[in-house]
This record gives sequence, C-alpha cells and structure tokens, in this order.
Amino acid sequence: MNTTHPSAVPQSAPALPVPPVAGPAPQPQALPAGPPPVLQARRLRHTYGRSASATPALNGIDLDIQVAESLAVMGPSGCGKTTLLHVLAGIIAPTDGTVHHGGQPLQDLSDAARTRLRRSAFGFVFQDGQLLPELTALENVILPRMLAGSSRRTATADARGWLDRLGLAGLHDRRPGQLSGGQAQRVAIARALAGRPTVVFADEPTGALDQATGHAVLEVLTEASREAGASLVMVTHDPAVAAVCERTIAMRDGRIEQQFRRRTAAEGQVR
Ligand code: ADP
Ligand code: MG
Repeated sequence: MNTTHPSAVPQSAPALPVPPVAGPAPQPQALPAGPPPVLQARRLRHTYGRSASATPALNGIDLDIQVAESLAVMGPSGCGKTTLLHVLAGIIAPTDGTVHHGGQPLQDLSDAARTRLRRSAFGFVFQDGQLLPELTALENVILPRMLAGSSRRTATADARGWLDRLGLAGLHDRRPGQLSGGQAQRVAIARALAGRPTVVFADEPTGALDQATGHAVLEVLTEASREAGASLVMVTHDPAVAAVCERTIAMRDGRIEQQFRRRTAAEGQVR
C-alpha cells in the first residue's frame, strides 16, 4: 500500500535544475531613482590645436545633467567653463571622451544632425545676448524657430507668449539698440526658451549687466527654465548667482575640483 502523501516529492525524483521563484525576479542592482540624465559626459578631454605643448582646456570631465536640473559652473578665467559648455552642446567635438544626449552619442551624429539637435533641443544665452541688431525683439525670437522648421505662425505665437512672460510686452517691435541691457538679455532668454529646449546653456548671462539687473535677469532665467522643464547649465563668477542653482561645480585646470548640491525643501522632508 502506498502511504506517500500526494504532495510529497518522491526521493527518487530528479532535482529541478532551477527552482521556481514566486513573485518578481530579484533585481541584480537597485533601480535608478529617476529618469536617465538628459546629458551624460564621460572622460571629456579637449585641447585646442595640435601643438604638443598645448595645455588641455578639458582634462577628464565626468558629468551627468538631470532632467530639469539647474547647474552652475564656476571657476577662474581660462579653467575650461566655456569649452565645457561648447562640448556638451555639440558645438565643438572633444579631443577625447563622449557626450550622450537622451542616450544618443553626439559623436555618432553627422554635422547636419548635430546642428538640427542644437536648434531643436538646446537653447543658448550668451554674455552680451548676441541678438541680431537689424531685427526686432520679436524677429530675433522667431528666426531660430523658423530655422528649426516651425511655421511663421507658430513661431510668432510662441515668441509673443515668451516675450510677454518675460516682462517685455509692448517691446516686441524694438530693435536691440532700443532696449536696455537687461531687456536685451530677456529677449535672449525668450529666444532660448521658445524652442522648448531640453537644456539651456548660459555663458555668464549676467556678466555685462549691473548687479541688480543681473540678478533680476537671472531669476527670470532660472524660473522660466524650470517652468519650461528645461535643464539649465550656467557659467557664472557670482556665488549669489550660483546659489540659485540646485548644483554647483567648481572647475580648475580643466577638471571638476568640487561639487556642491543645494538641499531642497522637498529633500529635507523626505530624507
Ligand atoms: P573659461 O571659459 O573658463 O574662461 P575657456 O574654456 O574659454 O575658459 O578656455 C580654456 C582654455 O582654453 C584657456 O587656456 C584658453 O586660453 C584656451 N582656449 C579657449 N578657446 C580657445 C581657442 N579657440 N583656441 C585656442 N585656445 C583656446
Ligand atoms: Mg568663458
């Protein structure tokens, strides 16, 4: 008579090669906390020219820029800040290392595709605005949108909306020479944001303004970027300006020497 319980495994049964596991398979690594970085730079090096004695402008930079993050880039003149921005934005190809945007390596793109990416995904604000003097404020904002393929109608509606949001209602038809420095920088910010960029690059955007005007422009730039969901990478010499950003990197001799992260109120509560 067989007394074995029906559920008992007979001694003679071969062992299963892999025991079945209830529930989800264990993860080998912790999942990343958020979406992947919008920009990822690895082992960036850049030397201008080919002279053997040339000192590198970038000397081994690793940097992740998160979606909608604001990052201040500080450091003495000549330490590589502008070069870093230009390499991250695909304006110059690094001598060595890689930059990925949205997971895509910039170095694998053709020149034409890189230009399209710059026009569609990146916005730029330079120290002196670099507005075209013969165009009105409105036309300065519209032009890059149309170069990127927007219809005049859409580009005009977007441009008017941004100029108004940045406090320039009533000034759309002025030429740059008829605007104050702070107003001209607001036009440059509207131009940078009108294309709904993933990243705004700003190279000493308040460097040519007096301190009060500069801080007002900066507030507009950080808030508008945040509202637009764009990451902001901003070179500045002013610690008060950097303090507005969530993270600051301090560069020296083509390297990141130090990083600081500003604790947000939300992080203070969660962690
Ligand atoms: P920063 O913006 O921090 O002042 P840059 O990135 O402009 O620094 O410059 C970094 C280094 O590269 C400096 O030594 C500078 O002289 C050099 N450099 C910058 N641009 C060029 C260029 N177009 N040709 C040759 N050297 C350059
Ligand atoms: Mg510079």
